[in-house]
Amino acid sequence: MSASAPITQDLVTIPRKLPEGRINLVGLTREALRETLVAHGTPEKQAKMRVAQLWQWIYHRGARDFAEMTNLSKAYRAELARHFTIEIPEVVSKQVSADGTRKYLVRIAGGHEVETVYIPEEGRGTLCISSQVGCTLTCSFCHTGTQKLVRNLTAGEIVGQVMAARDDLDEWPRPGEGMGERPRLISNIVLMGMGEPLYNFENVRDAMQIAMDGEGISLSRRRITLSTSGVVPEIIRCAEEIGCLLAVSFHATTDEVRDRLVPINRKWNIATLLDALRAYPRLSNSERITFEYVMLKDVNDSDADARRLVRLIAGIPAKINLIPFNEWPGAPYERSDWERIEAFADILYKAGYAAPIRTPRGEDIMAACGQLKSATERAKKRRAEIEAEAGL
Ligand code: SAH
Ligand code: SF4
Repeated sequence: MSASAPITQDLVTIPRKLPEGRINLVGLTREALRETLVAHGTPEKQAKMRVAQLWQWIYHRGARDFAEMTNLSKAYRAELARHFTIEIPEVVSKQVSADGTRKYLVRIAGGHEVETVYIPEEGRGTLCISSQVGCTLTCSFCHTGTQKLVRNLTAGEIVGQVMAARDDLDEWPRPGEGMGERPRLISNIVLMGMGEPLYNFENVRDAMQIAMDGEGISLSRRRITLSTSGVVPEIIRCAEEIGCLLAVSFHATTDEVRDRLVPINRKWNIATLLDALRAYPRLSNSERITFEYVMLKDVNDSDADARRLVRLIAGIPAKINLIPFNEWPGAPYERSDWERIEAFADILYKAGYAAPIRTPRGEDIMAACGQLKSATERAKKRRAEIEAEAGL
């Protein structure tokens, strides 16, 4: 497999047409929505206006029923309902942690399940969304990486997680209420749930364009962070076609250790990854890259590692997010001691980097980073199988 061949090529993509023949409008880009309306009888001349109206209802108001769309004629509403639906994934369970973190188990077409996590903070809130069921990659410290089943989420299933969380938080504007009247509960989105977002690039891009659209969910691109394990060829596309902030799962300072922790490193090593990261801020016009670094006891947490990290990222506008390892049943690692994490952070800080230690959230409900794995899909994949799948 060549370095640029997508690993996602043989994943299943579900058709957009629902069994009863109606088409789900959620997840279509503005252009796709326009074409779909025209193909089902909306006159070309009206199409642009209809897109704007539907868009507002679906993504700004949270409407799920054409009957609610009172600025459309009754006849047109009935016509829409004959051809289309407005469907988002179903939340099958919700767990609320002692710290307020909410974990949603979300069922998507085919009966698969993914997890979405809402993390409330002072004056803001972050929604962590999934992009795939499972993950084709096999980072050895990550629970999701042990999960067998994989399929890409559709754009509708990705933006649908945001819509489902807005439902649960009762965050849609109430009748008569303008934009921005209430502080936003979901003020930030992170693509840090299950899956490697850059192996589902088009769907993630389309979903994030909907999330960023000023007449829809309307989140600034600077409030969306995509986390990648280092899919180098797609990093540039992410800059050019999404323009959101980037986080990279760095986790090690030598290729030898990174090969073990983040096996995609065998395909695109640290030097290749750093080259792509150097180009990112200019291409995406964003400020800094977040380097995620999971703290694993006696594996990657020495002072020498911290100093090597500083040398490696020199010249890249960066912040380093230290993530204390979150344990899961059978995990082959331990979390670094707190003093070790602080000593590591101190070296980075003295070198001029912000190096916050990410406080684990929602640990009591297994909602913390890297703990996500749907209960229906516990089957473990064989390592050889995954590596073959991933072309490693
Ligand atoms: N696949 C993407 C995004 C999802 S993972 C990626 O790898 O970047 C989100 C972050 O959680 C990544 O930095 C990941 O490396 C980290 N992570 C995974 N398992 C973890 C664990 N058990 N403890 C702490 N962080 C973990
Ligand atoms: Fe996949 Fe990210 Fe987990 Fe690695 S850390 S297995 S890329 S979800």
